[in-house]
Amino acid sequence: MQLSAVDALAHLVESYLNTNSNELNRIYSREGLRMWGEFKSRLHDESLEEADYEMLLHASMIGGMAITYTGTSLPHGLSYPVTYELGVPHGKAVGMFLGGYVAYYEDRQESAEVLRLLGFADAKEFGCYLRDLLGEVEVSEELMRADVKSILDNPAKLKNYPFSISESQLFKMANYI
Ligand SMILES: [Zn+2]
Repeated sequence: MQLSAVDALAHLVESYLNTNSNELNRIYSREGLRMWGEFKSRLHDESLEEADYEMLLHASMIGGMAITYTGTSLPHGLSYPVTYELGVPHGKAVGMFLGGYVAYYEDRQESAEVLRLLGFADAKEFGCYLRDLLGEVEVSEELMRADVKSILDNPAKLKNYPFSISESQLFKMANYI
């Protein structure tokens, strides 16, 4: 349940912070992020109530709608080698990169809006929350470097990130917290 919730969160965040983002997908993202923010503390200690499950289902559904407009962005791109090489489940692999994506997203105003909707004070609090929720994943520096390089070598994987990004910036983003 936690992992599919984190995947839904990634869809909402990556759609909002995306090259193709516009007012339409952001309607979905905003609503889903607000809901996610409401049940986030209960997801953490696995004390979700019935109303939370309903919100979670709704947030997952509109997260799916949001990405049909925009596609996903760097956290999803970075997650695939971690899943293929290490067998880390999709929600966990995506969640590993979400804190860094928000922390280093170049438009600070837009990333601050995402954090505000979710109810986090700053990117660090969001990153720590995800780390506590998901637990640590041991990824070798070699795999992380190969992962970063494979994104930078592939324009299709970069096109949903609206800014240019260097290898060292992407590496920092991938290794946040
Ligand atoms: Zn996903």
